[in-house]
Amino acid sequence: MVDILSTQVALLLFESIFCFLSAILCAMKSSRDKQAKIVVTDLSIMAGFLLLSDFLFYICQGRTSGVATVVMQIANITLFLLCDLFLIGILTDFSIVLFGGFSLKKDQPCRWRSILIVLLSTGGMAMVVISQFTGLYYTIDETNTYHRGKFFPLSVAFPILGMLLLLSILLQHRNKTTKYRFLVLLSFIVLPVAGFLVQYFFYGFAYMDIGIALAVNIIFIENIIYQNQQIRIAERTDIRTGLANEHSCIEWIRARKAKKEILDYAAIYFDISRFSSINRKYGANTGNRVLAIFAGSFSKELAPDEFLGHQRGDQFIAIVHKKNIDTILKKLSDLRVEFTDDTGKDCDVHLSVKAGIYEIENAEVSSEDVINYAAAALDHASHSASDHPVVYMTKDLMDTIEEKIRFEKKIRKALEKGEFLPYYQPKVNSRTGELCGAEALARWQHKGELIRPGEFIQVMERNESICDLDMYMLHRVCEDISKWMKDGLTIPPVSINFSRRNLADPDLAEKIDRAVTESGIPKNLIEIELTETVDEFPLSVMKAFVDELHKRGFCSSIDDFGSANSSMAVLREISFDTVKIDKGFIDHDQNKDLTILDHIIKMALSIGLRIVAEGVEQEAQVKKLQSFGAEVIQGYYYDRPMPEEKMRERLKDPHYDK
Ligand code: C2E
Ligand code: CA
Ligand code: CA
Repeated sequence: MVDILSTQVALLLFESIFCFLSAILCAMKSSRDKQAKIVVTDLSIMAGFLLLSDFLFYICQGRTSGVATVVMQIANITLFLLCDLFLIGILTDFSIVLFGGFSLKKDQPCRWRSILIVLLSTGGMAMVVISQFTGLYYTIDETNTYHRGKFFPLSVAFPILGMLLLLSILLQHRNKTTKYRFLVLLSFIVLPVAGFLVQYFFYGFAYMDIGIALAVNIIFIENIIYQNQQIRIAERTDIRTGLANEHSCIEWIRARKAKKEILDYAAIYFDISRFSSINRKYGANTGNRVLAIFAGSFSKELAPDEFLGHQRGDQFIAIVHKKNIDTILKKLSDLRVEFTDDTGKDCDVHLSVKAGIYEIENAEVSSEDVINYAAAALDHASHSASDHPVVYMTKDLMDTIEEKIRFEKKIRKALEKGEFLPYYQPKVNSRTGELCGAEALARWQHKGELIRPGEFIQVMERNESICDLDMYMLHRVCEDISKWMKDGLTIPPVSINFSRRNLADPDLAEKIDRAVTESGIPKNLIEIELTETVDEFPLSVMKAFVDELHKRGFCSSIDDFGSANSSMAVLREISFDTVKIDKGFIDHDQNKDLTILDHIIKMALSIGLRIVAEGVEQEAQVKKLQSFGAEVIQGYYYDRPMPEEKMRERLKDPHYDK
């Protein structure tokens, strides 16, 4: 037969160990909610000691050794003290869950009740200490048997009163937490109090301790579940807008697929037009607020079984019923957002979007591809020549995109395999006929074919592999120059094109410097050609780069000057050494163009810039340019771009007789 004492002792020990283990686990677990972590750990430790004390108490009860007497005394006082101390622990936990933190300062909700609970807790503990000397609560006789004192009910009164106050706080603020968490908190009051009362009337079993331990176990388990839930929510939510993120979008689509409803839907991937100007005008914080307000008001336009998620930056995805596409696009075409800026001023902006739409027609399509196809349609809307803001993903477009992806992969591979090589186009001084420079132009040697930049530069600019190509070209040109030097040839400066995409790299000048220095050729033989950038980077970025190049001993030129983007401000503000006049300018021989050309050349010369005229094919053009003061010519009139071997021959005979 198992007697009741052994059962009780075993249960207490088991629960005590469980509580200590919970405390260790809780302390080790990384958690964003540090306060909750500390409280749950502390409560578990307290419960562990409480149960351990009770366990020792029952073991030693009735034994008459000196050790047993000491253990029994310590266990008993610990037990009584912890019962009161628990009040503060639970109060702290409640405050964290309900009010986000615990303090007794003025702004703490339920401040007076909290103060009273703390007083009851400390008062209760003081009384326990007093009872040690007076035997108010209990006495332990010489046979180590425990006897309740006359004032024992008072020891019960302190924690019970405290618990009632806690209960009133919890009930008053129950809507500050979920129903589920509310029940967990309630168990922290109900279980120990119920145990307490049972134990009070039916002495002989540690019901109260078991109640406390159970409550601690529940809180511990709930805390783990809650934290995992928080992590999952965080994984699915975008911090800036509070909207679902891509991960959550994928899961949403999966759920619709599982319900076989996906064919009713279309994905609209959209991008707020000119959002960067809002960021620039009001600052990034306000920009984020505008995004959140926009998302909040737009999501109200959607049906409950439709989805809105944030992708990145100012891009969103909506998964909507196909029949609602038109209405939703109409709403998106003009959305007014009201907000307050950083100074507290009321402002409003009208937002419009560019959108890519993918109507789901194949139930087998993966969730990721639903997003990808809509995003690719948006990409097309943003980059195609037509300024129509909405593009639907069609079969043809899908084929084009897939072809483009294949092509991009091919280019990347070609770059790895070193299939690109420099061709050189000479620059000639038209007055003397002397070779005075060259431009390196990339060629792609692929399966016996020589592919010109027109077919790959744009693609490479889009996927940023252009930066690798430019660096690769720099290395190849340095190698060629170094070979020519070894052959004792006189070499004029060679210019290399650097795409504006490179400007995103703040260490670009340093990288160029390193490459040239390592090759051992003089820096003045390398010139960097850049095109103007008004679209992506502020002028200051280009200015900083050109200044850095100068400092390191390199020259630079501005390419395609006179084409669409050019502005005189660039010439004034950035210390380029050379201006390359765009071919388009030279081709036109209308009077107006010629007057402007004359003007540009004079202006450039007056501020000490060198001039290279590009794309010159006819003698008449050469003469005209000479009359304006532009002598250096790069064009078919003298030479076409040529491979390294031919350039070497040209260097041996650097004079043109034209
Ligand atoms: P760009 O820098 O303006 O180069 C001049 C282009 O005009 C070259 O075309 C050249 O062959 C061509 N050209 C020169 N003289 C004449 C002429 O008299 N008539 C005609 N019709 N064309 C002439 P290419 O080699 O096809 O290069 C096209 C563009 O590709 C270049 O324009 C440049 O922007 C880009 N590019 C070429 N190589 C590289 C490179 O390594 N890196 C980067 N980022 N871009 C490059
Ligand atoms: Ca160029
Ligand atoms: Ca050019």
